[in-house]
Amino acid sequence: SAADQAFVTLATTEDYCMGALVMGKSLRRHGTTRKIVVLISSSVSPERVFDEVVQVDVMDSMDRTHLSWLGRPELGVTLTKLQCWMLIKYKKCVFLDADTLVLQNVDDLFEREELSAAPDAGWPDCFNSGVFVFRPSLHTHSRLLAHAAHYGCFDGGDQGLLNSFFKDWAVKDISKHLPFVYNLSSSAIYTYLPAFQTFGHQAKIVHFLGAVKPWHLRYDQSNKDSYLDQFLNMWWAEYRSQMPPISG
Ligand code: UDP
Ligand code: MN
Repeated sequence: SAADQAFVTLATTEDYCMGALVMGKSLRRHGTTRKIVVLISSSVSPERVFDEVVQVDVMDSMDRTHLSWLGRPELGVTLTKLQCWMLIKYKKCVFLDADTLVLQNVDDLFEREELSAAPDAGWPDCFNSGVFVFRPSLHTHSRLLAHAAHYGCFDGGDQGLLNSFFKDWAVKDISKHLPFVYNLSSSAIYTYLPAFQTFGHQAKIVHFLGAVKPWHLRYDQSNKDSYLDQFLNMWWAEYRSQMPPISG
C-alpha cells in the first residue's frame, strides 16, 4: 500500500540539502501520494518539505570505527547511502539522488521490484545509481556492507558497489530496466542530441550528474537557449517556488 512506500534521498552537506529540498518540492508538485524521507547528517537542517528526517552516521574518512574495519576510506558517502536499506518501516522505496529534479508524477515506480534502475549513459550495461527501486532490509544492508568489505568497488562510489552486488541486472530481467526518461542525465543532451530532441519531452526525472551541480550555477534569465539551461532554470524555479501542499 502507499503508506509503507517512500521516496528517499540523502544530503550530508548544506549544498546537497539544497538539492534534496528542490527534489522533494518537485515530487510534491507532481502530486506524489508516497512519503518523502531524507537521510541527513547532524550538520544540516532541512526545511519542512519532508515527511521524515532520519539522521545517519556519515561514514567519511574521519570515521575510524567503520572504516578501520573496512580499510577503505574512499567508500565514505557510499556507505552512508547504503543506510537507506535500514528504513525497514517501509516495504518498498525509491532512492533519488539529491541532484535530481522530478518533472512528472513517478509514483508508478513503486510497481517495480528491487533492484530496478535506468542504464548509465557512460556504460549502459551498468545501471546509474541516482534513481533506483529497492526493498529496505537489514539483511540486505549487512550483505551489502560485507560485499563492500570483501570486494570493494571498482569506481570508489555507490554505483560500482551496487552494480557488482546486483550483478545480473544487465541480463536477467528487462522489467528491472527503467526507461532512460526516469533518470535522464543532463550529459545525454550532448552525447545524443537527436535522441534528446525526439524523446526529451518525455523526461520524468532529470539528473544533474557530474561535478557541476545546479546550485553551483547562477540562475540567468538570459540563458534560456540551450536545453541544459532550460533544465537549470526549472531547477531554480523550483528552488524559489512556494512549497506545494502536502497531500495525504
Ligand atoms: N551526497 C551527499 N553528500 C556528498 C556527496 C553526495 O549527500 O558529499 C549524496 C547526494 O544525495 C548525491 C548522491 O549522494 O546526490 C550521489 O552523489 P552525486 O549526485 O554528487 O554523484 P553523481 O550523480 O554526480 O555521480
Ligand atoms: Mn547524482
